[in-house]
Amino acid sequence: SLGQNVIVIVPGANLLLNFEDLKRASDVICKAKVVVCQLEITPAVSLEALKMARANGVKTLFNPAPALADLDPQFYTYSDIFCCNETEAEILTGIPVGNLEDAEKVGRMLLGRGCKLVIVTLGAEGCMMISGDEGIPKHVPAGKVRAVDTTGAGDSFVGALAFYLAYYPKLSMEEMIRKSNCVASVSVQAPGTQSSYPYRKDLPQDLF
Ligand code: ADP
Repeated sequence: SLGQNVIVIVPGANLLLNFEDLKRASDVICKAKVVVCQLEITPAVSLEALKMARANGVKTLFNPAPALADLDPQFYTYSDIFCCNETEAEILTGIPVGNLEDAEKVGRMLLGRGCKLVIVTLGAEGCMMISGDEGIPKHVPAGKVRAVDTTGAGDSFVGALAFYLAYYPKLSMEEMIRKSNCVASVSVQAPGTQSSYPYRKDLPQDLF
């Protein structure tokens, strides 16, 4: 209703994933182009996966969802890209994010904690990105669409970004984010979390 989320989390099996499982996956992790972690499994296991990736020169993309107020500070130093939404940003920094300016403030604060690039997703407004190299915040707007269900929009964004990082590493970060906004904005136009993206022939081909 009204395009807003109602989410129930049943972590069950996710919390059974442990360091042994990680060790068994180490070969795949170490040879990957990008590793995405968030907080749906035991945070210590996610952190170890980020460390494993970093030690092998694999790009790390971290999404602190669901947000934890007392996130281990190492998550920042082991994230090449730290991507959070407005709610997560507020839980992590204490700054409520209601506009682009707030997002920029949060971005600077999170950069200061040691990540290389911060993205704050802003729903219909797209994203704010800021990199440690340039230090200049950039607004990357999303296209105007009719949202019916935003559940999974953040996951859709993060998944798309990982895809571009892995397959189109020469694109600029701004371009990758623009394309990821576009993918995520497709996901909000249908009920549920599936966008069926790759199978839809009616979508702009310049996303690939
Ligand atoms: P979350 O799903 O984690 O709350 P957001 O609501 O910030 O994350 O959405 C993630 C991304 O999905 C946005 O950066 C944007 O690209 C896209 N998106 C979300 N809502 C809309 C919308 N109403 N119109 C267009 N794009 C949207």
